[in-house]
Amino acid sequence: MRYAIISDIHSNLEALQAVLKAIERLNIDRIICLGDVVGYGPDPNQCIELVTKNCTLILTGNHDYACIDQSELENFTQYAREAIEWTVPKLTAESYQQLASWPFTGEIDNCFLAHANPGDPRSWDYILTLSDARYYFSQFSSEICFIGHSHRPIIFIEQRGQNWPRYHVYTGTSLALESPHRYIINVGSVGQPRDSNPAAAFGILDTDQQLFEEIRVTYDVQKTYQKIISAGLPEFLANRLLIGR
Ligand code: ZN
Repeated sequence: MRYAIISDIHSNLEALQAVLKAIERLNIDRIICLGDVVGYGPDPNQCIELVTKNCTLILTGNHDYACIDQSELENFTQYAREAIEWTVPKLTAESYQQLASWPFTGEIDNCFLAHANPGDPRSWDYILTLSDARYYFSQFSSEICFIGHSHRPIIFIEQRGQNWPRYHVYTGTSLALESPHRYIINVGSVGQPRDSNPAAAFGILDTDQQLFEEIRVTYDVQKTYQKIISAGLPEFLANRLLIGR
C-alpha cells in the first residue's frame, strides 16, 4: 500500500491542487490528511471539498477545531485568530458539517495518526525537540506516529538495540523503515511551510517497501499571496508564504 500523508493545508487551494496533481503521478492508493485544512488562507470551502473528495481519513487540527469550538481561540496568536474569525462566517453548511465530523486521532496499518502529538492530541502540544520526542514515544505503541502541526518536516527515531533505546533526529528526505526501530514523522505543511522552503510538503509511506519519502512541490505562491491580500486577511500571512517561514 502506498499512502500519501498530507497536513496543514490552511485554506491554500493552489498548494493543495499542486500536491494532488503530484500525488496522481506517484501511484498512491490512499491519501490521509492530518488536519488544519482551514485557517490562515483564503479558500476554506474549496479546500474542505477537495480534501473530503480525495482523502480516506481526515483528522481535525487546532484551526479546524477552533471553527467549531471558538473557546480554542484563547490559545491562538493574533493573526491565527483573525484568520479564523474571517473563515467562520464564510463556511458553507456542508463545510461546517465536515469540520465537525473529523476525529482527533486515527490509525492505518502499523501507524498512529494525530495532528499535534499522540499523547494528548487535544492539548495541541508540539513535538519540536528530541526531548519532546523521547517523551511522546512512550505515548503510542505502534511502529510509526505521523504528525503535522509545526509545519516543519522532521523525523525522530527511537533506535532499539540490546541496550536502552537511543534517540536521534533524521532530516533526510528518504528513509528505510527498519523494525524494531520506531519513528515519529512530521510530514510538514502543504499550505504554509515554515522550514525556509516555500514549496508545499507532504509524505509518502510505502508499506511494501518499508520506505518513507518526503516530497516537495512548487506551486503558484504569487497567486495565493494576491488572494490573501484581496481577501483582507493579514498581510503577514501572505508574506510568510513567499519565504516559507
Ligand atoms: Zn497548522
